[in-house]
Amino acid sequence: SRERYLSVRVSGIGDGLFALFITDVSERRHFEEMRREFMTNVAHELKTPAGAISLLAETISDASDDPDAVRYFSGRVSKESARLTELVQKLIDLQKMQDAGHGLQPKRLSALAVARAAIDANRVQADRRHIDLVLAYGGTQLGLEPAGDDPDVWIECDENAIVTAVKNLVENAIHYSPEHTTVRVVVSEDAGNVHIRVIDQGIGIPEASIGHIFERFYRVDPARSRQTGGTGLGLAITKHCVEDCGGTISVWSHESEGSTFTIELPCAGDAGSVANASSAND
Ligand code: ADP
Repeated sequence: SRERYLSVRVSGIGDGLFALFITDVSERRHFEEMRREFMTNVAHELKTPAGAISLLAETISDASDDPDAVRYFSGRVSKESARLTELVQKLIDLQKMQDAGHGLQPKRLSALAVARAAIDANRVQADRRHIDLVLAYGGTQLGLEPAGDDPDVWIECDENAIVTAVKNLVENAIHYSPEHTTVRVVVSEDAGNVHIRVIDQGIGIPEASIGHIFERFYRVDPARSRQTGGTGLGLAITKHCVEDCGGTISVWSHESEGSTFTIELPCAGDAGSVANASSAND
């Protein structure tokens, strides 16, 4: 239903005849609009913390004889610069993802090892918020450290991409949940597919927003998100990562009941050699 844009060129082809060349440039125009919108968003997102830092620096210099005020405002400078760094890092990640191919190295991986790596990367943050991180295979809870009798669940994809995806989902689950709740990472297999679910008991996502959360810079509540950190880029990156792995991502959520994000990937079967299996766990 998008408008179409045509480029028309008239060219003489001899004998007093002219040819009319009509090219559909809608795609190019649309891409150009998206790029412009993205750049506007980036500029806005960078300007906010940068502006805050410069204001805070002025406040600090005005309050130089009040050590408590200096300490307080310095703390806020650190927070804003951390936000700036996170934003720049996520923009770099996103850019990398968009370079076709970007050096993906698909290999055979244990889905449980991926889940554990994603949990591990979020342990400190979860502890800080008194959130329990739980790993399960189907209905069976597993330890956070690898064990000899772990079930073999194999996927084939780029390790960095899939770990980044699950890590981002766990990070969000913690971020959008009240303290003293549980975040579950559940691995299961069904009809030749592996599912990695990240289930939280958090604030949930309003129905009207669910269709937008994978868009770059989309945030359900920008004010809240800005306060608590967050860039609106995490899920866009996650979706890229999952698709790079040949998988899909979906979400179920109800406000104040929590959210479940499901990554579905083709199962890599269990025909691999022992050598492959152990190297995937490294
Ligand atoms: P952000 O950096 O703001 O978390 P994301 O792209 O990761 O950006 O997520 C986009 C938006 O989706 C978030 O701002 C938040 O409103 C919503 N969201 C993502 N994950 C969850 C979750 N587990 N629970 C509730 N809301 C979520």
